[in-house]
This record gives sequence, C-alpha cells and structure tokens, in this order.
Amino acid sequence: MIIARNVLELRKALGAQIGSVGFVPTMGALHIGHRTLIDAARKENDTVVVSIFVNPTQFLPGEDLSKYPRREEADFKICELSGVDVLFYPDVTGMYGEDEVRICAPDVRGFILEGTSRPGHFDGVLTVVMKLLNQVRPKRAYFGKKDAQQLSLITQMVNNFFMDVEIIAMDTVRESDGLALSSRNVYLSSAERQEALKISASLKRATKQVMQGNLNSELIRQEMLSILQPLEVEYVAVVNRSFRFLDEVVIGDTIVLVAARVGTTRLIDNVWM
Ligand code: AMP
Repeated sequence: MIIARNVLELRKALGAQIGSVGFVPTMGALHIGHRTLIDAARKENDTVVVSIFVNPTQFLPGEDLSKYPRREEADFKICELSGVDVLFYPDVTGMYGEDEVRICAPDVRGFILEGTSRPGHFDGVLTVVMKLLNQVRPKRAYFGKKDAQQLSLITQMVNNFFMDVEIIAMDTVRESDGLALSSRNVYLSSAERQEALKISASLKRATKQVMQGNLNSELIRQEMLSILQPLEVEYVAVVNRSFRFLDEVVIGDTIVLVAARVGTTRLIDNVWM
C-alpha cells in the first residue's frame, strides 16, 4: 500500500496503476461500515483508493472537530489488510488555501434536516468531496446510506456539474443489536449505548408499521417519537429519495430518518423502504 500525503504523491502513485479506480472517502476511525465500502470497491475495481481526512469545513463552531477520533496507526493497518492500493492522507494545508471558491449546498434540500441542525455543514461536505473526486479521479466512489442526505446531495452535485464518476450507495452496517456503526459511537458510555438503541428500534417500528399497511407519515413519526423518549430528538422525518417530505410512504421511494442526541453525542440513522 502506498501512502500519499499530498496530491502530487497521489498522482504519482496512481500513475503507476492501471484500470478502473474505486474510491472510498472517509474521516478515519475506520470500522466495519467503512470496511464494507472498501470491500465493495476492491471487488469492483482494479485499484482502490481510500482517503482519510477530517474535513474542518464541515464542522460547525462548537462541534467535535478537535475531539473527533483519530486512529492513524489502526486505520493504516485496516486499509493495508483490506487490500487498499493507495491511502490518501492529506493535511489541511494541502487541501485548503485562503479565500477559496466553494461549493454551496442547494437552497432547499441542503437546508432541511441535517442542514437545519447543522447550517453550512453540507457546503463543507460538497466542497471537500469535489476536491477529493478531482484529486483521485475515480471511476466509482462509494458512500454509505447511513448519511442519506449527504449521499443524495453528492449524487446531485455529480449530476449538476456533469462529473464523470459513478456514485455507489452502500447499505448501513449495524451491530448485532441494531446500533448503526459510527465513528462517534466511541463517545457513548455503556448506559448511553443502551439508550442509543432506541434510535434503531424506532426505525424498526416504522418498518413494521409500513409492512402492516400503515403508510401515514405523521402516524409513523408519532409512534417513533414515543419510542425515542426521553432522548433529545432533533428530527424524525419521512422523505422520498430526493429529500422531499412525504405525507404517505411510497414503497420503493422513501427514507425515514432520525437525528437525536444521546447525552452529548449526536447520532443519525435511517431506513430505506
Ligand atoms: P465517515 O468516515 O463517517 O465520513 O464515513 C465515510 C463513509 O462511510 C461515508 O460514506 C459514510 O456514509 C460511510 N459509513 C459510515 N458509517 C457507515 C455504516 N455504519 N454503514 C455503511 N457505511 C457507513
């Protein structure tokens, strides 16, 4: 595995590779969810590039940028063992200059749900993903459905800017008890971890209601909110794949989403139905 610490090293490393490039962008503290994306990229491409970059522009003031888990040594090992060809590990000065051109999230879909709770977050996400895609120039890039709104906006950006990359959506990987894997789960105490299970439980209930024929979004939301008590819920929402709010679930084109705080840790999860 080659470790490239800037775009010149990356270009040099990729110059020696042939065939299709599959790319998995991450912020590190790698877990089995990331591993699933890497495995898919490994299977479907000749060359696999993983980036690890904790992107400062997607964190709002007061968020967990400085304490975001950093596991350099373990992450390098995981990438090596997963058959990654090139690990792109840039620093902030290599990624950002002064007074830069930025990508802005769309006015409506960028400023609901995660965009309401974290205004400006998606500008940072889209800007860094644009930079990374231009640096790596992959044929395919892999993203998790766990960050559903992010995935939707990245797909939209690629379409809106006529970018030549295929965005591949990967299912959410969970612990056996249902908790969605997240780098932020390390912040949870064992009591909080138990409380956090209410999030996946509420989504399971939503799925069950839909399977029983209850498609009414408001009823589904109310049922979920009662399961989520006493967590501090930021939103429970029923949207379609383009992130428009739905009054009724449309099977095959619906995502039910939750964001809630467990203690001080903010967690998100969703189910696609
Ligand atoms: P992050 O390092 O949190 O920025 O995540 C990097 C990529 O991994 C993103 O595309 C995430 O959506 C994806 N990801 C994170 N957690 C999971 C999970 N539990 N299952 C599947 N993909 C995930």
